[in-house]
Parts: sequence; structure tokens; C-alpha cells
Amino acid sequence: MIVTDHERLDLASASSARRRRCCVGSENLIRELRAHNLLAEIPEDPDAASGNLVHSAWAGQEVTLNGNQTLTLEDLQRLEQMVLVNWAGDESVYLIGREQRLWVHDGFDPVISGQYDVAYGKNSGKSVLMLDGKTLYGEQDPAEYNDQLRELVALFYYNNPQTEKITVGILAPKLRERCTLAYYDRFEMELAYRLMRLNLAEAAQPNAVRTPGNYCTGCPAKLNCEEVRGLVGRTYNLAQRIEQGEYQIPLGEKGAAFLDNIKTVKGILKALEERYKVLLEAEPDAIPGWRLKDGKKVRMITDAEKTLARAKQYWFSDADFWSCVDLSIGRLQERLSEVAKVRGKGLERKFDEAFGKFVTFTQYGPELEKIRKKKGELEDEPTPDPDRLASDSN
Ligand code: SF4
Repeated sequence: MIVTDHERLDLASASSARRRRCCVGSENLIRELRAHNLLAEIPEDPDAASGNLVHSAWAGQEVTLNGNQTLTLEDLQRLEQMVLVNWAGDESVYLIGREQRLWVHDGFDPVISGQYDVAYGKNSGKSVLMLDGKTLYGEQDPAEYNDQLRELVALFYYNNPQTEKITVGILAPKLRERCTLAYYDRFEMELAYRLMRLNLAEAAQPNAVRTPGNYCTGCPAKLNCEEVRGLVGRTYNLAQRIEQGEYQIPLGEKGAAFLDNIKTVKGILKALEERYKVLLEAEPDAIPGWRLKDGKKVRMITDAEKTLARAKQYWFSDADFWSCVDLSIGRLQERLSEVAKVRGKGLERKFDEAFGKFVTFTQYGPELEKIRKKKGELEDEPTPDPDRLASDSN
């Protein structure tokens, strides 16, 4: 069979741990689709591509970053240093590695892998610090019940069974909770390893069930999965029936589940739309009545000096001209960083000191935000049966 994901050898990896726990049948479907060359190619999300660039730079590779990516990288490096210093105390530490992929094998056969971003060890003992950077705004489970980190612990323990303690951390410069940590002793490492093996064994069962949920948006099989298609249809039907006044809008826990489904469905439909773009690019006549048109062009003026000179020839006073100008706060801050040679928090303070009183805010309408569950509560409720949900809501 031809391997399509060379890095992971088409096998399960820690980055899909949450999806595997919540939808144990997903691996079978992915494997089957891959075997028949049916795994739909989905164009890379530009945010994810930007995050990958930052990760490469964090690992020490030479890549070109834009201003925002540079700030994210600096935040990551600062958080890494803070956590490292705090974890090390007065002991000396060494770098174990950056972006290393760890494997579990059964004999010679690889079974599962996972890649950490950076790991350190203490010279004095068998303690390890393993960090994972998240560069985007998306919600993250904190380190203490993060499935990906738990499987990374299991992989590290399997490869380094002498390890006594592992501290794992998520560094997320874009999120309110910028850093969360969790601690694993030997017993918990063993448990993490056994849980991983149990999950892999369950996932290999031919009748392993597929349960759609918010993790579907990151599943490679999402465009070929009957279960998620069912979720899309049921959510759409319920929304229509609510709109037609047949049912009350569900509140309480049912409302929360319904909103979760709406968010998932939007993600799936977006991915489907992107897939159609790829298809139409390759085969312009594939879908009757539809074609690809050029993306929107946005008019911009970047040379303010020349534009001012020209405006004056057209009877503009200075005040007329400046009343048409919006400044890019991001670029102003970048430039301030270069001229004042400050970065990170210092830059934010300097910017506030210099320009804070000129900054005004445009407030958009309120947005929906999911409140993170309390410590110890699982994030994923089973997707409720929408028919029951509909009739119960009456
Ligand atoms: S799309 Fe969702 S339900 Fe379908 S296999 Fe993937 S995770 Fe499971």
C-alpha cells in the first residue's frame, strides 16, 4: 500500500488522541478511505500554515516570518523560558530535543507516534519537561486533561522507561490562559500508556462506533463520513423546524449541545465548500451551474506620502487628507519595535505610552463563546439524538 502521510506512516498519532477517544471508529474509516485512495484532499488552512511556520522558526529553522508571526514566536520563546526557569529551580538542565517524533513499536512494526515541540531534562535526576506550543486562537483543553499531551507522556515513557516524573505544558500565547501545566508520576505514566494501548485496541475493532462531535472538524475523513453527514442533516432539519415555529429553541444542556452541533456543522460545510473549489479548479465543468471566479480585490494605498502630494493637487487641505486615513495599529507597533528596540510586554507598554490615548475601539455585536468546563469535567458530551432533543424541547 502507498503511504500518504510519510511523517506518521499513515498511523495514529498523539495529535489525533482526542478524536480517537471521542470517536473510536474514526481510525478504521480513515484507514479504509486511504486504502482506496478516497481520502479527500482538503486545502491547508492559512492559519494552520502560519502556525507551522512559527513552529519551524521555534525549532530553529530559518524561515521568513511576518510581523505577527514574529511576535507569536517571541511570546512562545518567552513563555518557554519562564516555564523552564520555574521548573528547573536551582538545578541544571539540558535540552533533550526539539520537534522529535517518538514511536511505539510492536516488534519491528510501528504502531503510533507523537511529536513534542521541545523537551528538557534535569541533570540531577529523571525528571523531564515537555512543551507543546499552540499558536492559534482555537480553544484548547488545558494540560491536565489534554489527550494529546497524555499520549505524548505515554510515548516518552515507553521510549525512556527510567523517567520518574514528567511535567507537560501547553504554551498558547494567543489565548487567555497562556500556559497550563500537568504533572505525571510513574504510576500516571504507566496509566497513560495503558490508556493509549486500550484506545488503539478499541479503535481497531471492526465494529468500533463513530460518534460525531466538535472534533469532527479536524478529522481527515469528515467529507466522507456518514455519521457527520447525518449530524449536518439533523442539525439543519432541527434549525428549520425551529424557524418554522414547530419547536421551541432548546435551552439548558440541550441548547449547549445544539450550539456545539451548529459550530461543528459550519466547519464541515466550510471544508466541503473548499473541497468543491479544489474540484472545480481541476475540472471546471464538474458542477453544472457553478464555476470558480477570481477572489475579491481589495483596493489599498500604501504610499501615503505620494498620495498626500497628489491630494493637494486636487484641492485637499491637510485636514481633508488626514480625515481619510486609517492607521494600521499592527504595523505601527512593528515599526515602534524596530525604532525603539523593544519587544514583547515592553513593546506593549511602550505602545500604550506612546499611542494609547489615540486608540479608539469599534465594538462589533456580541459573539458566542463556549465557557470552558471546570477542572475534571470532560469537554465532550455525547451528541444528543436531535429528534429526542426536538421533542423534549416542546
Ligand atoms: S468525521 Fe467525526 S464522526 Fe466521522 S469519523 Fe471523523 S470524527 Fe468520527
